[in-house]
Amino acid sequence: MIGAVKIDPATGLLAGVRQVLSPHFDARPAGVLPELLVVHGISLPPGEFGGPWIDRLFTGTLPADAHPYFRDITAQRVSTHALIRRGGQLVQYVPFGERAWHAGQSSYRGRSACNDFSIGVELEGTDDTPYTDAQYAALAALITALLGAYPSLSAQAIAGHSEIAPGRKTDPGPSFDWVLLRGLLGQTLQASSRS
Ligand SMILES: [Zn+2]
Repeated sequence: MIGAVKIDPATGLLAGVRQVLSPHFDARPAGVLPELLVVHGISLPPGEFGGPWIDRLFTGTLPADAHPYFRDITAQRVSTHALIRRGGQLVQYVPFGERAWHAGQSSYRGRSACNDFSIGVELEGTDDTPYTDAQYAALAALITALLGAYPSLSAQAIAGHSEIAPGRKTDPGPSFDWVLLRGLLGQTLQASSRS
């Protein structure tokens, strides 16, 4: 059972969640609010779960010599707002009001540079490994909290990274069950509007 997720709107930080604050962020353009949620999948090294490497990538401290795959990505300056690990645990890297560097070259409904106006959520996983029930529950709870804290967001504006960067990105992949997320989100939104 995942408890309610709480966001402090003054700081853009999740309450009671492990914070691993990243240096890889900057301010959104003046007057631009978060309007899009981007769902990603990540694992480091690819296909392996549970190590410290995602934190290390997003904080710019990934050791190039720890795995052959890391050599090519260690210089990347990337981040995300939040990560959901396989067990459903949340980690936050960038305050939601700031611009995290997760989308890269991207376009949503004709509007480019999605980092400017989006919030990025990574799920630890791969394109072809089913994501866990705990991850879907945590994602639905997180999105519900974000919709409450940022009225500029909408349950209708949620996209996968592959959708905003087609041909370049494939995550969260065919393994991500959008129907399941939609169903859970319907339930959590209804429950939160009753409370
Ligand atoms: Zn991605």
